[in-house]
Amino acid sequence: MKSIASHIEASVIAQALDQSVNAVLLTEAHEGEGGHRIVYANAAFLRMTGYGEEEILGQNSRILQGPDTCGEVIRRLRQCLADGTFFQGSTINYRKDGRPYVVEWSVSPVRGASGEITHFLSLQQDISGLIAAQKATQLFDRILNATDDGVVITDSRGTIEFVNKGFEEITGYGLTEVLGRNPSMLKSGEQNADFYTEMWNTLKQGHSYKGTFVNRGKNDQLIYCDETITPLTDENDTITHYVSIFRDLTTRVLEEQMFREMVRFDGLTGALTRTAGELALENAFMQSRGSKLPMSIALADIDHFKQVNDQWGHSTGDVVLKTVSGNLIAALRANDSVIRWGGDEFLLIFGGCDLSHALLLAERCRQAVADSQHENVGVVTLSIGLGELRPDEALADLIERVDQAFYRAKKTGRNQTQVSTAEEPPAVGI
Ligand code: GH3
Ligand code: MG
Repeated sequence: MKSIASHIEASVIAQALDQSVNAVLLTEAHEGEGGHRIVYANAAFLRMTGYGEEEILGQNSRILQGPDTCGEVIRRLRQCLADGTFFQGSTINYRKDGRPYVVEWSVSPVRGASGEITHFLSLQQDISGLIAAQKATQLFDRILNATDDGVVITDSRGTIEFVNKGFEEITGYGLTEVLGRNPSMLKSGEQNADFYTEMWNTLKQGHSYKGTFVNRGKNDQLIYCDETITPLTDENDTITHYVSIFRDLTTRVLEEQMFREMVRFDGLTGALTRTAGELALENAFMQSRGSKLPMSIALADIDHFKQVNDQWGHSTGDVVLKTVSGNLIAALRANDSVIRWGGDEFLLIFGGCDLSHALLLAERCRQAVADSQHENVGVVTLSIGLGELRPDEALADLIERVDQAFYRAKKTGRNQTQVSTAEEPPAVGI
């Protein structure tokens, strides 16, 4: 069969070989004393190995081998040469100056007109750079996966290209479930559009964005994250990627929420604590002043509660207290407040209520408690003092007036609501 090369001048083929970017080596097939002698090496081969042409011609390619050259690969090569079959492999070779490099090469037998193998043609490539890049990528992967923090890398349009193990742990989503998708898949709906607009405005200007994100994981759970997103730019300052690193704060946030609830609500009665109640009172006062809407408050105290404790014991007293508080909360509207002001004393806030409206609510409370039957104890009653905030009146003065009305309720027979209308006379003990 006539080869294609026979149509081209031999000098052109020689030039092509010499200028090939791949290293080309031709050795004799005959294994003389010094092994397969090199009869041709192109310029790329000389560049790759650092040898001059006169130094390499007549040598055996064994001179390229060294301590880290893989014996197994060389044995396989020798077998292929002996069998006259094609070889492909990679190992470590050494330049003339002793520097190692990773070579990937193939060897094909070259047959003469009668079919006998006359030479071996070897095409070689230094893949050290590629291997180094692979190693760097593997190292990069290991580093990113060594941290508990979540890492997400997206392209400039926000398409996810990489997430680390930390991300998988935190969100519950596996890498393959999120590749090609957008991090907006984690949106919980807990943060409004302004939050995301501000984030994008910052990022588009090439700045990092730091914030607390409330995300939603695969199992629908809320995830609180402290997150930093950084835009990556190329040499033209064009954003190519976004790298987001986030720390899972969920446990801490939930613990804080629980703690706040514990501080806010009284453990026994479920009413607001005195501290939280004072804040609620202050807020209601400011709101009333700002909106010019009325506001009324009441002080309600259980009548003869000491006797309940004395007769039935403290734990029965506790149950009664809890039930009374429940009666009050159930009798009032959602935006009213029930505060455990003291031992058996509750302060009630009727937001937006004038005196007549508040009186209806206070009486509803008193009635609800009086209608409630307690095991063994029977019925307990409330004495209530009620008042509406006057224009220009300080909060402390309103509380003082209501306190005096309350004492009147105690003094004039208990189980009743006394309204503070005019200036209260100074309090007298009962
Ligand atoms: P009055 O009608 O004048 O209000 O009489 P009272 O017996 O209810 O007297 P007062 O309101 O002054 O006393 C409240 C009692 O409530 C005193 C205390 O032993 C009891 N007490 C306070 N806190 C608790 C509690 O958490 N559990 C129980 N079981 N009792 C409490
Ligand atoms: Mg009492």
